[in-house]
Amino acid sequence: MLHRPLPVLKSVLAVSILMQLAASGCRDLENPPQKASPEIQRQDTSPSADLRWLAKEDPSCQADGLSVAVSEITVYEWDGRQTAPKKVSFKGSAGPDREFVSQNITGSLIGFVSDYNCTISATGAEICKVDKAKVQPEPTAFRMCRANATYARESLESLTLTSQYYTESAYSFYEAIAGRKSGIIKSILVPQPIFMRHFTKADGTTSDRVDVNNASFASIPADGDQAKMGAFFIFPTSQKSFAASGVNLWEVPFVMRHEFGHHVLSHYLDKTLGATSLRLAKDVSLESIMPVSYRKHSSEAAFGLASGVTAPQFALDGINETFADLFAYFAGNSAKAPLAGVRCLDVSRDPSSAVTARGSKKGLDSARVAIYEGRSAPLKSDGCSEPQFDDEHDIATALGQPMASFIEQATPNLDASVRGEVLLAWASNLKILVATPSNVSLDTLVVELVKAVKQKNPNVTSACVHFKAAITGLPKASAACAN
Ligand SMILES: [Zn+2]
Repeated sequence: MLHRPLPVLKSVLAVSILMQLAASGCRDLENPPQKASPEIQRQDTSPSADLRWLAKEDPSCQADGLSVAVSEITVYEWDGRQTAPKKVSFKGSAGPDREFVSQNITGSLIGFVSDYNCTISATGAEICKVDKAKVQPEPTAFRMCRANATYARESLESLTLTSQYYTESAYSFYEAIAGRKSGIIKSILVPQPIFMRHFTKADGTTSDRVDVNNASFASIPADGDQAKMGAFFIFPTSQKSFAASGVNLWEVPFVMRHEFGHHVLSHYLDKTLGATSLRLAKDVSLESIMPVSYRKHSSEAAFGLASGVTAPQFALDGINETFADLFAYFAGNSAKAPLAGVRCLDVSRDPSSAVTARGSKKGLDSARVAIYEGRSAPLKSDGCSEPQFDDEHDIATALGQPMASFIEQATPNLDASVRGEVLLAWASNLKILVATPSNVSLDTLVVELVKAVKQKNPNVTSACVHFKAAITGLPKASAACAN
């Protein structure tokens, strides 16, 4: 073709989907504001001036270039102490609209911005309304014009390529698992999105805050038909965090593999993870059956709920985070300490560590379950690395290591792919369980893991000894292990 192709249809579609996602948060939202979910960790925010903004190294390519086929790229990988460049094999090429595509990633969308106007209520709660979502200055699909080139670590190109590489590595791990559910949807990457909150205080002073130091996955419906699209958001790093740790989260292989784990569970549950509507199965919105007072992240959360009240969505949120951690861990071939040196995550979220940052033993006793289910107050914590048990990521902290160890003991001398089979068997079981939301609790969701392990190896007596000791707050799962 001699003339410039018509406007970038696929990117426009992606933008329109993302706009929808942002716009769906038009109602009032308590903290945290609308965002793609779930994430790798608790929400982390920073003043906008603290943003570590990465610029395009090759702006002319991004503006008007043509992606080329590549067989090798340079990524930047964190090894627990530092980040170093690493040349890796990678098949990428130009998509129909000149964007850079690979096996499971159909392009990356540059310049996504979502604005919220926020006020602080008398009780200190942040109330944010989405103002507008936009892509600046216009929809831009990421392009890579230099074959097998190396970009500087401090560039938007390296952020995008490194994230894409680890996402694809997770996809390859998934595709190699025997009996996997086929047809996992392709996704886009959204590198360096800005979720900007503009605060106005009572005295008229204003300030801005942005979401930082995180990654998230959303599976979102495409407009007009039943097709869905996955979107991986890779948030910017804050200057403060970078100064303290020297690492960007996307340089940690575990992080994008964790997000891909959410993609896998979503695929199995056939669940659309929108920002404001979390659905388990078709036409079953758990929000509609949840007690309104059951709110986490809120100092006003009502405790002392009537006993027997279940909150299946929160239970599933905790298991979703745990599943994602286990998927990331096995996709990394059970390498020890995959989060070493990473602020907030480190040993606490490391499925190979039996203790948290402060040395407390992982696991879920009845006191921790009571906190998560809103029946008692969260633990006090003065840092992000120690669980308070009021957040779904704390369930991953508590259950990741006992579950990883349980699966490993039940599959001795077998490779990561077999452990992947166990996870997928668990996901299949969960699909059946969540069809009846009233049956869903942390306990019953973990029972399904026990069943999945036994499907692979019925003789789990010794593996159960340790696992049961770690989950004393989950009586049904303990009982399932004994049988
Ligand atoms: Zn997550």
